[in-house]
Amino acid sequence: MSWERVRGHTAALTTFRTAIARGRLGQAYLLVGPDGIGKRLFATELAKALLCERPPAPFVACDHCPSCAQVQAGTHPDVFHLCTPDGKHELPVAEMRGFCTQMAFKPTRGIWKVGIVEDADDFNEESANCFLKTLEEPPPGSLLLLLATGTDRQLPTILSRCQVVRFSPLRPEEIRAVLADQGVVDPAQVDHLIRLSGGSVARALALNDESFWKVREQLIDGLLAPRPNFVELAGVWQRFYEEAGKETTGQRLRVSLVIGFLVEAIQQALRLSLGADVAGLNESEEARLRAFADRLGPDRLLELIDRCVEADFHVERRVQLILVVESVLEQFTRPSVASR
Ligand SMILES: [Zn+2]
Repeated sequence: MSWERVRGHTAALTTFRTAIARGRLGQAYLLVGPDGIGKRLFATELAKALLCERPPAPFVACDHCPSCAQVQAGTHPDVFHLCTPDGKHELPVAEMRGFCTQMAFKPTRGIWKVGIVEDADDFNEESANCFLKTLEEPPPGSLLLLLATGTDRQLPTILSRCQVVRFSPLRPEEIRAVLADQGVVDPAQVDHLIRLSGGSVARALALNDESFWKVREQLIDGLLAPRPNFVELAGVWQRFYEEAGKETTGQRLRVSLVIGFLVEAIQQALRLSLGADVAGLNESEEARLRAFADRLGPDRLLELIDRCVEADFHVERRVQLILVVESVLEQFTRPSVASR
């Protein structure tokens, strides 16, 4: 049955359940929360529950009828997805126009029609303005679901016409359950993945990939060396994110994951330099981290962490990825501000 796939997010589900039970489902919702925590899955399950031909209970999809199968496969004639095209950083107005036209027709099957704007962070002024008409007067029976990482990127005109539903990062036990579903049960590995995931299932699953740990080793080895080879390391990092395919979300995730483990390594170096114990390191890793910390000193390490956090913010803000990568690597190779 539907909703079982969705981990966590009970408050969001309650919001929609209550609205439906009262016959007061709105026409436009902005689903807001970090990348990779299940907003898209939630929107799909919601569409399924609304359109199911044989719902076993109110607002619950059977998961077997033709309608459920089509929503799942992305081929339902009354469900439309609008995504930023591969390789683009904005939602082009032409795509938006097509989406609005589709939404304007009557539902072909039942009484509902669901439009899911998967990359509502990527509106540009033109596509946002084009969308406003549909948002102001949604066609009867239509439900618009906009997926975004924050409300701060939305134009007030869009924000004021949507009901905001907030999605929080998942709790450790919720991530644990998803990992268990995928057969990842080794306690030490699960704990490590949860720690690095920041409450995002997508991150936890991406981290559970051997190629990721190979890249991690190459980059950490290279960056802890006395003279990091900027060009070589930029190449390793770039190849890694480009292997995610043309989809920009996947590429951003990979850049962000690398920044995450760089921060982890710098924090470990900092703790060692302050005389604290760091669990889970072998002798050679510990020695290299200590040497790195001695070379840079605590102020410089703290500054590096700041720069990495800033870079991660730039990833979220759609700065060109190669620029982010180069800016981070530059930080590791340039002399500190204090010693200049
Ligand atoms: Zn069904």
